[in-house]
Order: sequence, then C-alpha cells, then structure tokens
Amino acid sequence: MKRICIIYTGGTIGMERGENGYEPGKEPFADIMARISDFSSPELPEYDVIEFSPLLDSSDVTVSEWNLIGRTIRDNMDEYDGFVVLHGTDTMAYTASALSFILRNLPKPVIITGSQIPLCEIRSDGKDNILASMMIAASGKVFEVCIFFAGKLLRGNRSIKMSADSLIAFDSPNYPKLADAGIGIRYRENVLMKKSEAPFKMQEFVEEPIGVIKIFPGIRIDLFEPIITQKLRGVVLETFGAGNVPNYCTELSGIIKKAYEHGNIVVVCSQCPTGTVSLGHYAASSPLKKAGAVSGKNMTTETAVAKLYYLLSCGYPKDKIEELMEKDLCGELDE
Ligand code: ASP
Repeated sequence: MKRICIIYTGGTIGMERGENGYEPGKEPFADIMARISDFSSPELPEYDVIEFSPLLDSSDVTVSEWNLIGRTIRDNMDEYDGFVVLHGTDTMAYTASALSFILRNLPKPVIITGSQIPLCEIRSDGKDNILASMMIAASGKVFEVCIFFAGKLLRGNRSIKMSADSLIAFDSPNYPKLADAGIGIRYRENVLMKKSEAPFKMQEFVEEPIGVIKIFPGIRIDLFEPIITQKLRGVVLETFGAGNVPNYCTELSGIIKKAYEHGNIVVVCSQCPTGTVSLGHYAASSPLKKAGAVSGKNMTTETAVAKLYYLLSCGYPKDKIEELMEKDLCGELDE
C-alpha cells in the first residue's frame, strides 16, 4: 500500500468566513478530511497530515516557510511515496518555483495544490484537487515539484496564477502540461522530468535582499537608483516584450553598470507570459546587455526571484551566478 504525506500550510482550501473575510479555519484539517468519505476510498493511498502552525494566507508566506516546507519533505522523504502540499493560491507559483530549487534531484513527487473555494463550502474545487494530487503523489511517475489545479498537472517552476476568481486558476504558458486528469490521469512522459541519477539534496534559502522592478511607460528609473545599486543583491527587471526598455531611460544602463560593479545581479525577464527575452534583438534592449544584465530567457518572474535566492544562497561567485542564471538547472527555462 502506498503512503503519502499531506502538508497543510493554509490557504483558501481550509478557510472559513471570519469577521474580516476568509481566514484559516480552526478545525484540524485531518478531521475535515476524515468527514469526507471520498478520502477513505480504497483507491487512494494511505495518508498522514502534517499541519503547520500558524496556518497562513499565502500572502504571508516568506523564505522561512519555503525552508520549513523543504525541511519537512526532506525529513520525511524515506517514510512516504510522495508529498502533497496544501497552499494558498496567491503565492503558490512562487512557492512551487522556490521548492524546485530547494529540493534538488527529487526522487519522489511533490504536488502543490489548493482551491479557489474553501473545502467546507458548496461547489468547492478543493476535494477534486486533493484527490487527484494524492493519486499523482502515489503514482511513482513524477520526480519534480508540480502544481495540480483544475485537472492540470503543471511544472511548478513554469506555473503562474492566471485568475483571481476562475476555478481554472493556473497555467504554464511557456511549457506543456505534464498530465491531464480527465476520466483517467494521462501523463505526458515526454515532458515529465526523468528521475535524476544524482543524489537528492536540500539547499536552504538565505533571506537575501532581492527586488522586482516592473518597467512601465514613463518610468523615472533614476528614482530607483539607490535601490538597484546599493540596497539589493539581486534585481529582476520586468521589461517589455523581448527585454526592451524605453530609449529615454538612458540612466538605466548607467545604473545597471554601477550595480554590476557593486557585485549585484540584474536579471531581465519579460512582462509577456509567453515567448522569451532575447537581449540585443532590438536596439531597445542592447544597453542592458552591454551594462552587464543577464537574460532570464523564458523564466517566469516568480522563478527568476526563486533562482536568485537559490544561487545567492549557494554562495557562488558573481560570474558563476550570472552563468547559471541563463542555464537550465531544474526545468525552469529553455536555453
Ligand atoms: N488568499 C488566499 C491564499 O493565497 C487565496 C487562495 O488560497 O486561493 O492563501
């Protein structure tokens, strides 16, 4: 009999209406599951629930929760066939990206899921999301961190939250779905990660100062200079299209050059959900390249943030971080 571990961190799935809106409920999640007969179906693996305290709205999740989830999985790795992480949807894509770097060479599946409607309410999408995630976690077919939501299994570090209110809340616009849960669960072997030969290891994240700056028409980039050059060790620049910034932003290349000389890493991502950054394709992006920024290629902003934490936490020298930033480490980008 397969056995999986369900790690409940918070999120809408276990929330109740409180005085100020939805908040984590009081009843232990294992008790809620025990009341729903489907969760004791013989077709499901056996399971244990580890409940975090405090339970969080995922807006409150930080580097320390990512590390805690990572440690919980590492410490229980030998006891279970797979893991399901119940998490709020708001920052689920960030957590999935972070865990893909924290848990390297995964020998077992880590499936993150949640819901848009609490499990205790009518029309909740939570039950189906958990049931399929449990089956996938016990399938022995997945060796990576994924998000399962609304019938789709997605690579965690390619996923983004697409909708604040649709039940189909996630997608991975730059990478195919890993599986579809229809009448049966259909895995796409050709896009799933193969089991790594290398040993499993965990890399905790250090809380480095990292920032994201979204370029917009009319941005006064000079106002951001002290932040980019002095306060942050890593910056993700969310640029237009293939990595373009406004021509009038002549200060920007100077600022990036200064940041570069300071030892900071500037990663260029795109505001477009599909396609890739290609520095130098347009004259509007070549100053970034010349000033020392690195290309985030087709990484999501969520993943670029997580990768910055990861590479800085590994303690690599700056040139190695720049080199690895453009390389595929765990399925997060197309080189
Ligand atoms: N605010 C909630 C959270 O991210 C939203 C959700 O779970 O759907 O925790």
